[in-house]
Amino acid sequence: MNGPIDKSLRERAARVIPGGMYGHQSAASLPANYPQFFARAEGPWLWDVDGNRYLDFMCAYGPQLFGYAHPGIDAAYANQMRTGDAMTGPTALMVELAEAFTSMISHATWAMFCKNGSDATTIALMAARAQTKRNAIVRATGAYHGAQPWSNPRPAGTSPGDRAGQHFCTYNDVASLEEAVKAAGDDLAAIFVSPFRHDTFQDQSLPTREFAQRCRELADKTGALLIVDDVRGGFRVSRDCSWSIVGVEPDISCWGKTIANGHPISAVLGSDRARPGASSIFTTGSYWFAAAAMAASLATLELIRETDYLERLNAMGDTLRAGFDERAKAHGFSIRQTGPSPMPQILFDDDPDYRVGYGWCSEMLKRGVYTHPWHNMFLSAAMGDAEIAFALKAAGESFEALRASVASLEPHRMFAGRT
Ligand SMILES: *Cc1c(COP(=O)(O)O)cnc(C)c1O
Repeated sequence: MNGPIDKSLRERAARVIPGGMYGHQSAASLPANYPQFFARAEGPWLWDVDGNRYLDFMCAYGPQLFGYAHPGIDAAYANQMRTGDAMTGPTALMVELAEAFTSMISHATWAMFCKNGSDATTIALMAARAQTKRNAIVRATGAYHGAQPWSNPRPAGTSPGDRAGQHFCTYNDVASLEEAVKAAGDDLAAIFVSPFRHDTFQDQSLPTREFAQRCRELADKTGALLIVDDVRGGFRVSRDCSWSIVGVEPDISCWGKTIANGHPISAVLGSDRARPGASSIFTTGSYWFAAAAMAASLATLELIRETDYLERLNAMGDTLRAGFDERAKAHGFSIRQTGPSPMPQILFDDDPDYRVGYGWCSEMLKRGVYTHPWHNMFLSAAMGDAEIAFALKAAGESFEALRASVASLEPHRMFAGRT
């Protein structure tokens, strides 16, 4: 709940930060009672600057796979900080981390490290262009691949040239994929896909085998590279690349978010086929070789390999989904819950301007649960049965409160005047 400290920070931010806040961290697009500023976090819990505690179903928009302030991962980070972090060159950890990734991800025989998911997707694009000596890409309408000029979802500050040669298909629609590939002709450098459809404001859909296989065939036939952007889905769908669930191996996969449980590092992984292009590009960053995040990533990968976190995430996600459904029905609401169980998206039927969804999230927040009205959410392995029960109790009460207030809800100002 945005209390007095949050309010005063927002006022100060409006003076010294453009727009008061930018990008996905701006609370301006969320229900009115959502806080903008946070003070601390531990395990599955998050505290805002006014001291309110939330069970956090955003997990920092994905990174917190094992929960906030994980003792083992953070100790690996802190120890390496004391030993040496950003130095004149990398440590042995860089090679160890590349060995760990290539042993875990079946399609990969090499790895490159950077900081953000946008770095990884941009390197993948450059590697594909360098390798094929072509420019065009095929990607799905509405899919997010980062905030660089070539991939930015909004036009402000970009030029049409930044997006030259991009051809769009509809995710899971084979005919539209074939058409886009045809339109790219003999200039096709890469087919760029999300591991599943996780676009904002939409129901999520898992990839069909037919779509994934056709992506592979068309890349092979045209000599283009197949790139899976696993920055968001990575390690919540599989311990391998997410397209292992449909039996398709990409040439390049992009990783970020979860791979060091919130410490800053992202990765590009590739097969031998994609190695020449990756070897030929110049790409670098001042902090990309820093050792502490690599130590944190090695500790995270070990937990991924050696714990049952994924099975637990799936079981908790299933319980949550069934419980939300039951409580929605009991109070006369019809909701759609889509995507993999550890990454739920919840949208309300008959809610064209999302006002019911905003209303429900607002009620959940009052009861100490942080959910999102139009972005997919994330479970962490720091959650357990007690947290799932806490969320379900809040959900029942929130549906009940919403039933009483639904007729008087107004659309959020983002949507007012649309639809
Ligand atoms: C978040 C995200 C990115 C960009 O990652 P950043 O670390 O925010 O630059 C790219 N692709 C997908 C699918 C993402 O979810």
